[in-house]
Amino acid sequence: AAKKAPARKTAAKKAPAQQAAQPVADAPATLEVRNPGTGALVGTVPVTSADEVAAKVRELRLFQPEWEAIGPDGRKEWLLKFQDWLIDNTDTLADVVQSETGKPRVDSLIDPAFATDLVGYYARRAAKFLADDHPSPHSPLARVKKLTTVYKPYPVVGVITPWNFPLAMPALDVIPALAAGAAVLLKPSEVTPLSALEMARGWAEIGAPPVFAVVTGAGATGGAVVEHTDYIQFTGSTATGRKIAVACAERMVPYSLELGGKDPAIVLADADLDRAAHGIAFGGMFNSGQVCISVERVYVEAPVYDEFVAKLTANVKALRQGIDGRESKHDVGALANENQTNIVQRHVDEAVAAGAKVLTGGKRAGFGTAFEPTVLVDVDHTMSCITEETFGPTLPVLKVADEAEAVRLANDSIYGLSASVWTGDKDRGERIARQLNAGAVNINDVFSNLFNFALPMGGWGQSGVGARWGGANGVRKYCRQQAITAPML
Ligand code: NAD
Repeated sequence: AAKKAPARKTAAKKAPAQQAAQPVADAPATLEVRNPGTGALVGTVPVTSADEVAAKVRELRLFQPEWEAIGPDGRKEWLLKFQDWLIDNTDTLADVVQSETGKPRVDSLIDPAFATDLVGYYARRAAKFLADDHPSPHSPLARVKKLTTVYKPYPVVGVITPWNFPLAMPALDVIPALAAGAAVLLKPSEVTPLSALEMARGWAEIGAPPVFAVVTGAGATGGAVVEHTDYIQFTGSTATGRKIAVACAERMVPYSLELGGKDPAIVLADADLDRAAHGIAFGGMFNSGQVCISVERVYVEAPVYDEFVAKLTANVKALRQGIDGRESKHDVGALANENQTNIVQRHVDEAVAAGAKVLTGGKRAGFGTAFEPTVLVDVDHTMSCITEETFGPTLPVLKVADEAEAVRLANDSIYGLSASVWTGDKDRGERIARQLNAGAVNINDVFSNLFNFALPMGGWGQSGVGARWGGANGVRKYCRQQAITAPML
């Protein structure tokens, strides 16, 4: 007992010093934003506290009814003004995207262009998509009733986004929710919050009603968004998506989860191999492989395997990697953060240790977080580069005996976001597409589903729950359905 007493005293003495090391309650916490290609500090943003998130949601609730009341045509005016603002500010927006992601210029320009396209699509079509439905009665008794389905927006939608397209990802989900008549609280990734803040600046600059706000911070701020909003639109990793699903279930709040992927590409012996080798190099390396629908596994029929691998490797070797200014000089830039680079290196190292061969790349590129575009062969289906999402510039290629083996291996994944099939026979391609466990399949192409908002974009299995876009569903998902019956006469 005599020994224990001083120990307690020491602990008691240390306590004030430990307390002093904690941030003072009213000191605003901040996050630094760095260009991952250069390490340069490009911005500092506040960490929004849970109380501030709650207050923001209360504020949005006040303005939402009027936003809903002006109807889709009233909202269209504001959305088209916002589209003009995006067009007028494209270069500035690309600067911001580039500074916080380390992307090449050409990739940074995709963010504002993609957002601009989507705003026009939903601004012009929301009225049609949200119009009441009048289904026909199916029984004689119901024929005396007028039947109506009404689409009424959730008051406040919470949108939580990742870092890979820091302007496009937010816009692609915020805009349909606004078009539906909801107010939106956006929580962008803590790695790339600046582009989302630009969006908020644009919304304020055009003088639009205050029904769109951005809060910044990491998981805790995201958790508060989930805690206070009425519908959660989440894009990010499967691990975080699972946590959000649990939190939403607790509150009985609906959600849509757009999660990770491990997209297979199937190259059949009758394919145009030049086209396949170009498309798959692009699909694997665009945005340094940091696209949820990047090609992450390639299955090639044995008779064309050697020829295809030679063409693919040549294309990947030809890519220029570096840091761009406003001029487009490079095809591949940096990865978004160090954590991402470590995952890519681990997948390559584990594959090599288990017998895979690196045909090109395989190591860091020598600046910032960048990793060299990499082609791996002699890969098997137990390696982490096949079983886990890499989200980096690697293309593991496997030889398969035939179409049946390609389909079996493509489906051997917990993910099911999208896939591609490369064949000289498009009917055969469509037949194979229907056998694949994937939310989207592109024949002789990559990403073409992504640029068609009339199609749903959603993952199967661990790649997601629900979908974004898909024409009318893209705005109806942000609405509650109300059934009204009234007498015919
Ligand atoms: P992440 O899951 O780490 O973070 C995503 C967002 O969730 C961030 O804003 C983060 O701050 C927030 N967050 C983290 N913990 C949270 C919590 N407990 N509650 C609420 N919010 C929380 O993902 P990431 O690393 O930013 O993004 C990469 C992932 O995103 C990849 O898996 C990629 O495939 C996926 N992605 C999917 C799509 C799609 O449409 N399916 C599109 C782009 C990216």
